[in-house]
Amino acid sequence: MRALAKQAFESSKNLGLIMMLATAALAGTVPSASAQAPAAAPQRNPADVEVHLFPVQGNVYMLVGAGGNITVQIGDDGVLLVDAGLAGTSDKVYAAIRTLSTKPIHYIIDTHIHADHTGGNEALAKLGNTIAGGNVVGDIGASAGNQATVIAAQEVLDRMSATNGTQPAVPQASWPTETYTTPERKLYFNGEGVLMIHPQAAHTDGDTIVFFRRSDVISTGDIFVTTGYPLVDLARGGNIQGVINGLNEIIELSIPADEQEGGTMIIPGHGRLCDVADVVFYQEMVTIIRDRIQDMVNKGMTLEQVKAAKPTSDYDPRYGRDTGFWTTDMFVEAVYKSLSPKK
Ligand SMILES: [Zn+2]
Repeated sequence: MRALAKQAFESSKNLGLIMMLATAALAGTVPSASAQAPAAAPQRNPADVEVHLFPVQGNVYMLVGAGGNITVQIGDDGVLLVDAGLAGTSDKVYAAIRTLSTKPIHYIIDTHIHADHTGGNEALAKLGNTIAGGNVVGDIGASAGNQATVIAAQEVLDRMSATNGTQPAVPQASWPTETYTTPERKLYFNGEGVLMIHPQAAHTDGDTIVFFRRSDVISTGDIFVTTGYPLVDLARGGNIQGVINGLNEIIELSIPADEQEGGTMIIPGHGRLCDVADVVFYQEMVTIIRDRIQDMVNKGMTLEQVKAAKPTSDYDPRYGRDTGFWTTDMFVEAVYKSLSPKK
């Protein structure tokens, strides 16, 4: 592990708290009607979190402690964020960004809908502003006004704005202001190409992977995490096959340094800074488990039989969990349902 990554991991004294906050965030976004209803959320005040900022490489920094990891790209043009953390953490996030740059936040790219990644959209966007006549390649509509532009895949907006009765699922002030429906979207900002890639139906149906081409850094969202098995949000259009496709995409974009660790650096949705070797290990783990469960599905085994066969047991010491918002049982169930023929 690179010294930097180790430092990022070890000085994050609040990892336990981060996970608890992520639990709270997910509890608010995974419907209780689902068979995968998460455990009750602990009552914690997001304002109590401690955030930490680490240089990654090039123009890019990683901010931990505010929910999901936040990527901060800085330069002459201003500040671009990938994800916005939990609601209530934005003052601390903003103060940390101010130690790097005094320029305004112009863009926030949401990797997906979950509240531990989008909860800070409203507060952080209001602290920034839109570049007049912006330079996003695509169908830019009118500027959203005096706030940063929040970009996401169209499915994020569709789900946030869907009404459950009379109220939208998420208040309008938190919605993306620019969405895209194509497999990729491009942006040039702070002297580098920023490529947004939209894998189909992965962690959710509205995921974006962000590749900073000059800095050589990829922000993965929750398609890749170091803290557990991948969360497959079936209720929001996720699928294990899409997670594997997304991991393959990340590996495809990455170039490891010759005969050593390093090269392209990877910022996971949760957990420590990684390089491509970490993603390859994770992709192999997820693929092996997918293949085992596919085999059981093909043999006609029921979900209970698959769970009893413990298809993840050799990886459980590292990734498994019996309690919390994403248990090993829930992961196995999500893989099973992803692979079972639709009735
Ligand atoms: Zn998520």
